[in-house]
This record gives sequence, C-alpha cells and structure tokens, in this order.
Amino acid sequence: MPLTPKLTDLSDLDGIRRELKTLDPGALLGSLDMQRVVISDDAHLKVKASVAEALAAAGKAGSAHIVILKDKTPILRNGENLLELVENQLKDHFAVRVEILDDGHDKLHADDTVLDMAAAAVKGADAIVTVGSGTMTDIGKVASQRNGGVVHVAVQTAASVDGFTDNVSVVLKNGVKRTVPSRWPDIVLADVVTIGTAPREMNTSGFGEAISLFTAPADWYLSSLIGLDNTFHPASMAMLKATAAEPPAWSAGVAKGEAHATRELTRLLALRGIVSGISNTTACLSGVEHVISHMLDLHHSANHMDIGLHGEQVGVASLVAAKLWRQAIESDLIRPERLKKPDLAVLESRVRGAFGHLGDAIAGECWRDCQAKHKKLAENWTRLQSVLTDWKRHAAEFDKMVTPPETLRPSLQASGAPSDFVGLTTTVAPGLARWATANCFLMRSRFNLVDLLDMLGMWTDERIDWALDGVLGETA
Ligand SMILES: [Zn+2]
Repeated sequence: MPLTPKLTDLSDLDGIRRELKTLDPGALLGSLDMQRVVISDDAHLKVKASVAEALAAAGKAGSAHIVILKDKTPILRNGENLLELVENQLKDHFAVRVEILDDGHDKLHADDTVLDMAAAAVKGADAIVTVGSGTMTDIGKVASQRNGGVVHVAVQTAASVDGFTDNVSVVLKNGVKRTVPSRWPDIVLADVVTIGTAPREMNTSGFGEAISLFTAPADWYLSSLIGLDNTFHPASMAMLKATAAEPPAWSAGVAKGEAHATRELTRLLALRGIVSGISNTTACLSGVEHVISHMLDLHHSANHMDIGLHGEQVGVASLVAAKLWRQAIESDLIRPERLKKPDLAVLESRVRGAFGHLGDAIAGECWRDCQAKHKKLAENWTRLQSVLTDWKRHAAEFDKMVTPPETLRPSLQASGAPSDFVGLTTTVAPGLARWATANCFLMRSRFNLVDLLDMLGMWTDERIDWALDGVLGETA
C-alpha cells in the first residue's frame, strides 16, 4: 500500500478523511469526528475563533454560554497565566464561567466524583473549553458526552499521552485505570510554547508512550490473525507507518522542550490518537508493553501506592516487548509442534497464584478476563494452528511492525525518558518488574505474544530473565 503524506497532514483533517475513505472502501473504520487540530506557537490565541467555528458547525449561532474547565494548578505560558489568556479572549464575545475542579488531591483524579462534578458544572453550557493535560481533556470529553455532545474545545498543555485526539477517556474505576468510550473533542489547540515548558517528565513520558508504535501493532495483528480481534485494518496500519516508520531523530530535544521536538512529539501523539479513535480500539497501540505497565498500576493501586507515569512505564516495557518480538520473528522459536492446549484448571491456579496476594476480588477479575480469552482461543484453535504452520510468512509482516530494541533504546534514552525499571519516576524494583512481566498474560482478555509463548512452553524463567536483561536497572 503506497504511503501518502496526506494521511498524516493534521492541518487538513478533511484530507485525512478522504484518504481513509479510499483505503477503507468497506467503511469498516469509525469516523474521524474532529473539526480541527492546531499545533503551533500561537494555538492558544485561536480559542475564540475555534469556539465560534465549533458552535457554528453545531448550528448554534448567536450568543452562547461557555464554561472553561480547569484544575487548580496554574499553568503559565511565558510567565503569563494561560487560563486568563483563554478567558480574556472569550469574555468579550460570550458569557463565560470558569469552573475549577478540585477533589482535594494534588493532581485531579478522573474518578466518578470528579466526572459527576464536571458534568454538573457544564450543564446548560453551549460549549466547554478545557485547559490542561490528558486527564483534564478526558474529563472534558466525558462532560461533553454526558451533556448531549455539547461543543468541546481542548487547549492542550503537555504532550504526555495520545488521548487528546481520540474518542475515549481514561478514568479511574475503583482505583484502577479503565478506558471508556467518550467523545472526540471538536477542536484541539496544542500550543507548542506551553507544552515545551510543561513539567519535563510529562513530555518525556509522552515519548515513552509514543514508542509502543514500534511494538504493539504486532500484537494487534497477531490477535487478528488468530481470530481474537476483528479491528485490525490495513488503513490504520498504513497511517501508523506513515506517522513514523522508525524512532524519530528529534527525540533528544524532548527533555529540553525544544520547539521542533515538542511540535513533532505533539503531532506524533495526535496521529496515534486518531488511529486508535478510527480503529475503535486502543489495541492498535497497546500490546505486551502496555499490559506490563497495567500490571504495575494494578500492584501499586492494590497496595495504595502512587501510580507511576504511564508513558514512562510503557517506554521501558516496549524494550522488553521488542526483544521478545524480534526473537519470535528472527528465530525458529515459534513452531506448531510445540503448541499445547492449556489446562484451564492449571491456568486458573496460576492466575490465583499470581494475583492472590492482591486480594480475591482482583484475582477473580483477572481470571474472568483470562477465561474469556481462552474460551475464544478454543473456538479458534484450528486457526491458531494454521497461523503457526505458516509462521515464516506471517513473520515477514511482523518484521515490518517491530523495531529492534537496539534501535529503540538510544532513542528513548535521548528523549530523557527512563530506559530501565529502577529509573522510573515511581521506581520499580527488579522483583516487581519481573512479577509484572512474568504474569502479564494472565491479567486481561487481550491476546499477545506472551500468551503464545506460554502455550508453546517457551515462557520459561530463562526467557523472562533474558527479556529483562538490561532493563531492570541498578539498585542502590
Ligand atoms: Zn498508552
């Protein structure tokens, strides 16, 4: 499939839509329901025009009530208060109310309390403007959805995640992060100056998140080959490839907030968000590396500890995923004669053994998810067998989807993001990193390479140690 620059030109979302239409004649993809994404040095000055544009598109001309949602932490742009810059643009033209969301935490939690608070705060508004990073945008998307899809303009202040430009929100359910359907923002304004001066670890973490682009699609494709995921689409894959064929050379500027690197990182994350939005799944960018990160979150949350930075964890775990995938592609590790049907009673005892110390409720939930996966696997058993028989041919496809860890690591290190578990901002000791990696396939209903390795009898202690060699980090 020829790659086309039009697929990644964020200044022309109509062009992307047209391009996708030709690549998706069966109209299987979800629609890209955003009007505009602006990534520039003066995007913050486009709030008034953007709100007017989005209101007009929603058929709401004339006077309008605008609610600005923000958390309590001030955000500065070149020494000026960004909230005031936004409010001042709007108040001459609209009735504006500022709502500061505060749940008592240092950083706002996107849990039911806050989502209810936000939805109530914007009731009756004609448009919502959120000012903040990923969490604030996610809250705004839910608030918009709960109020009949009221216009939402998001002012993006960090390049921490790819969730600014998609139609889902990451929320906290009983302390655990979950992705729930919400709504595309109508317009996203990413001001490069503000983003470049966001706390350093937010943007470096965004780079860690970004590199799952070089591992996760293989897990997504594998799952689709064996019949466990029907969302894989060549157009999504083409868009990801057109976004970045290899780890970008600009990563060294991320930690320093250099304008070029900040702009490129913002753009890369925005395109990732769009791909997962139109694919109707996060699976396109969430494979082995993400489930290792989810394992760490689960451990931290069950033990009432601080949850680590998502992107940092994903970045380190991507090195593990890439190493395993490259071996699966390049060696004769994957052989059909090695495949054995799992004994479900044994599997259940492994799940309970892995998660029992976190409580029966968590172990039970993991087992339910794992059981659902194995039920589907049993139904697709012959398909799995034939994929393994034909592994060499499939490996040629996987080869295009997975970048070697030797290439990923320097890029991650240059970005300023941690490249080992001990080095994470919320440090992860070797024992915990090993637990998270060894048991990652027992947690969720999604199938990935580690599930396959385990069913081949190849997920051994030796292989786990080998996969983690070099990413555990030095303990003091
Ligand atoms: Zn992620």
